[in-house]
Amino acid sequence: MADVKTQDFFSASEISIQDPVLRQALIKVGTGFDAARLESIEDVTSATWESWREEARQIKVHTLDHLDYYLDLLEQNVTRAGGQVHFAADAAQANAIVAAIAKSGGVKIVTKGKSMVSEELSLNPVLEAMGVEVFETDLGEYIIQLAGETPSHLVAPALHKTKEQVAQLFSDKLGLPLLESIEDMAKAAREILREKFLTAEMGISGANFLVAETGTLVIITNEGNGRMCTSAPRIHVGITGMEKVIPSLQDLAVFLRLLPRSATGQRITSYVTMVTGPRRETDEDGPEEFHLVIVDNGRSKMLADPDLREALYCIRCGACLNICPVYKKVGGHAYGWVYPGPIGAVVSPSLVGLKQAKDLPQASSLCGACREVCPVKINIPRMLLHLRNTLAESPDPKENAAGDGERLVARGYAWLMSSPALLSLAHRVARSLQRPLLMLPFSPLTRSRTRRGAIGRVRLPLLSRWTRSKDIPLLPPRTFHEIWKKELSQTSKGDS
Ligand code: SF4
Repeated sequence: MADVKTQDFFSASEISIQDPVLRQALIKVGTGFDAARLESIEDVTSATWESWREEARQIKVHTLDHLDYYLDLLEQNVTRAGGQVHFAADAAQANAIVAAIAKSGGVKIVTKGKSMVSEELSLNPVLEAMGVEVFETDLGEYIIQLAGETPSHLVAPALHKTKEQVAQLFSDKLGLPLLESIEDMAKAAREILREKFLTAEMGISGANFLVAETGTLVIITNEGNGRMCTSAPRIHVGITGMEKVIPSLQDLAVFLRLLPRSATGQRITSYVTMVTGPRRETDEDGPEEFHLVIVDNGRSKMLADPDLREALYCIRCGACLNICPVYKKVGGHAYGWVYPGPIGAVVSPSLVGLKQAKDLPQASSLCGACREVCPVKINIPRMLLHLRNTLAESPDPKENAAGDGERLVARGYAWLMSSPALLSLAHRVARSLQRPLLMLPFSPLTRSRTRRGAIGRVRLPLLSRWTRSKDIPLLPPRTFHEIWKKELSQTSKGDS
């Protein structure tokens, strides 16, 4: 399984925020993808859009409630079409299955379509260790493979790179002159990869959907590389998570409307590739062998957890990343693992374990925008709160994100809030202390925004991190309670 690159989201995000190139690149997610998504929804009217979202959600709810039945049906239909289905419990098993297929087929070159699951499994290093050359063929994936990096977005893996950085990379790694236009770079990559498509013995792809009633693997792309991967090489291996199954082609039609609009604002992607088993005698092309590897790798555990099961409805459109105020500032790599953004903040702790990703549930302002845009209406904020609660309640100090000091403050706060008399006393004491404290030359309170009545920074251990990015309003001369007692309650009695 892929290594967790960092468990410290906060330090990683501080580095990302200070990267001017990354900040420039991230502007695209709001102004490009999200603006296009909104436009495409306007086209169909929001009432229609909402009805599609609800339909898609119900399909996911139904399928995951009967997942064993649909996986069984899928297996029967893939087998009937001449393919082979392999179920893998974890990353090691999935990688071993693909390695065995490559070995028995005498594979030396693999062309790969975009597959987040293969990133999750860290499949490429396993094949490369056997002496197999692996070529990513999605342009974004090809760029990050050359750079030795990991994807930073679900849909646009090289989103963090500028045109100039890619030109330099192509020059360094491929010996090309410094190319100026994106078209020239795409053309250069296409020429290199075309030769690989023609010589590869094995193609590997992910799957956007698996249709149970026909045993069909469905890939949607804009570059056509998915179709080349599935049709040119002698062997094809589709590798994907078990949650990708849907019951029927009719259900597929719903997702084909939702996914491209949510991802890039397109009405439909340039290519919708559907592969059902190996090539038949009457087919002009297609693989001689077709394998489908269905991966669990922690998904059964999520399925069994009523609080997290909903995360398996995800169709990896990336819309929640494009709208998220945190992702738009820090980009994907700060999240430390394969899946970034709001959905990554739920999926990563669930798949790699809370200990390894305990910062991620905090990587959200809980504004709810991710839920609003999600085409399958996944309630991400609810799951983030659930994970925060699990962390706070955990007796394991390696999981528990709160330090002793933070827990002490929370307990003290709860105690204070449970007694009106104590709260009133605390108000009076704090009010009388705040002004003299602000006047001290070495005060722990820095009143950087006096005109707006706020304390900008508190130089005390527990509060300094919190107030680095948030102001604390000064306590007003009178609380609402006091105003109500003295004035408003009289007025309200007079009115009645
Ligand atoms: S959680 Fe929803 S919005 Fe986010 S990637 Fe998944 S389907 Fe798209």
